[in-house]
Amino acid sequence: MTALLWLRRDLRLHDLPALLAAHEAGGDVLPVFVADPTLLGSAGAARRNSLSAALAAAGNSYDGALVVRVGSPETEIPTLVREVGAGSVHVSRESTPYGRRRDSRVERALGDVPLVATGTPYAVGPGLVRKADGGPFQVFTPFSRAWREHGWPAPAPIPARLAWHRTVDSAAPWSADPATAVVPTGEVAARARWEEFLEGDLEGYDRHRDRPDLDATSRMSVHLKYGAIHPRTMLANIAAHPARRSEGARRFVAELCWREFYADVLWHRPASAWADLREDLRGMAYEDPAGAAVGHVRAWEEGRTGYPFVDAGMRQLLAEGWMHNRVRMGVASFLVKDLHVWWPHGARYFLEHLRDGDIASNNHGWQWVAGTGTDAAPYFRVFNPVTQGERYDPDGTYVRRYVPELAHIAGGAVHQPWRVPDGLLHGYPERIVDHGAERAEALRRYEAARATT
Ligand code: FAD
Repeated sequence: MTALLWLRRDLRLHDLPALLAAHEAGGDVLPVFVADPTLLGSAGAARRNSLSAALAAAGNSYDGALVVRVGSPETEIPTLVREVGAGSVHVSRESTPYGRRRDSRVERALGDVPLVATGTPYAVGPGLVRKADGGPFQVFTPFSRAWREHGWPAPAPIPARLAWHRTVDSAAPWSADPATAVVPTGEVAARARWEEFLEGDLEGYDRHRDRPDLDATSRMSVHLKYGAIHPRTMLANIAAHPARRSEGARRFVAELCWREFYADVLWHRPASAWADLREDLRGMAYEDPAGAAVGHVRAWEEGRTGYPFVDAGMRQLLAEGWMHNRVRMGVASFLVKDLHVWWPHGARYFLEHLRDGDIASNNHGWQWVAGTGTDAAPYFRVFNPVTQGERYDPDGTYVRRYVPELAHIAGGAVHQPWRVPDGLLHGYPERIVDHGAERAEALRRYEAARATT
């Protein structure tokens, strides 16, 4: 009997336990991806293009057998099951609030045909790492210790003698928007990039990871987003690497663990996707991004705040659909603490434009910066956009790469163009706010919110 393999965040052939389970069901396997309008609604051109490229690449991995349907999964999956007379539907277990609700609906719609979940997009499934008393961890460091102790299985093999079901037509994935650059996507590209990183930047990762000018991070986030590679494969490769005991490798594993931690937090607290985790800050006073603050917010979105480090980041986001982590923290802090806008506005904007846009890492990353999340940076930590730039982009290379109006300023002076004679001559804007004054205002609002709880 045919088994359906319903792919979601796992567009690959290697290390996919759900594929093994579908194969072990005994018959041929029909791999399917359903482009769900609810999820696509929040995606901008960059993410749609990446998905389109990822589907095309997965089509090759699956030897042309992958079927793409556009529509609601609760209609499309049972329809396909009936069309081919499938006996089971296999998935990787989903952990996002929407994914869990959707899977429950599909399970009900399938009636007697089982929806079988095997594995997850994480080394350790969200919800499995627990404190001694069985409760969830709130803080990263003890979580990461328990996560390592829990451990993970070896990567799953590709089943031998796979037989694909090939009687069903596929909707062609929508074509990519040529205005938005598509970077190499899919399983082959992911492995190539991963090997390049392992041999090049892994060992020095701890020293260079905070420098956006050096481009020394893995850029694996987009591949992890679509599941072109599983983190368990990455962890196994690191464990077998000559540099496995280096500080770079240790730090890299810790970053992968942040991804797992945020997925775990979201699993236990689904409402944290869009609501402040810290109850004492729920009364904070914010500006309305569609009202009085609209001009400032638009300047932030378009990279015209007059703070070069912030503007370079926002322009990188628009140009590439990706932004360096250090700069993500800086631009997020600027929106929340210099412009006093509640973090969900920024989180939504990021999800629209990031190719790696992921609800757990993104929205908890925003909460971390805003100081409202679990294990958050304290609210009173306000990133200074000038000193952050001078420290992490000391020669100004990163800023000049994305802000051509400042290309004439040499060295680190680019972080304060208002101090350079002719610094603003080529159209770069004046600062829209005074950072010192807004920092004081952010702290005033913070104290006021705490006083009322
Ligand atoms: P590397 O430095 O090479 O790290 C390796 C991997 O570890 C990453 O691919 C990612 O999977 C994981 N990782 C690293 N840092 C973090 C972190 N702080 N939180 C969670 N996982 C991490 N990451 C996303 O994947 N999607 C998002 O939508 C996203 N939004 C973010 C929003 C904000 C405001 C902040 C501060 C961070 C966000 N991050 C997000 C985390 C981080 O910025 C990116 O994972 C990282 O920049 C991706 O680049 P890389 O693959 O080169 O990372």
